[in-house]
Amino acid sequence: MNDCIFCKILVGDIPAEIVYEDKDAIAFMDISPVTKGHVLVIPREHYKDVIDVPEEILQKMIVVAKKIAPKIVEAVGADGFNIGINNGKAAGQVVYHLHMHVMPRYEYDNLKMWEGDGYQEGEIKEYGDKIRNYLDIN
Ligand code: 5GP
Ligand code: ZN
Repeated sequence: MNDCIFCKILVGDIPAEIVYEDKDAIAFMDISPVTKGHVLVIPREHYKDVIDVPEEILQKMIVVAKKIAPKIVEAVGADGFNIGINNGKAAGQVVYHLHMHVMPRYEYDNLKMWEGDGYQEGEIKEYGDKIRNYLDIN
């Protein structure tokens, strides 16, 4: 048995408020929610992140999120929701079992998740070029 806390939740060794399960994925309440009703969707198999996971499992996760997010919003009286996956330490990933955050949003919750910054003159194209180069679509 590995040391992964989400694998432990999957086998019942650590308790969790599970709100949804199917043969590929489960969803449970995040213990430290960014907003009330914050849920995590995880695959039943252990993959560390979006790079590691096979495409078909990632597809199943987003389908689960699509299915449960509007129900969560209705259930908790929210006004919208964010879906997010942190990949790597710099992005805030703490648990290395792939998980999709489904976070209900309330009109006056004051949460600022995606505060935009700016580019210097010419910089947006420079970054566009860098990325296009690696994506081989030039
Ligand atoms: P990350 O920062 O890796 O994207 O998110 C990990 C999430 O897992 C955090 O939001 C954190 O609150 C949640 N979490 C960590 N440990 C536990 C736990 O033992 N039980 C539950 N339900 N959530 C956890
Ligand atoms: Zn795991």
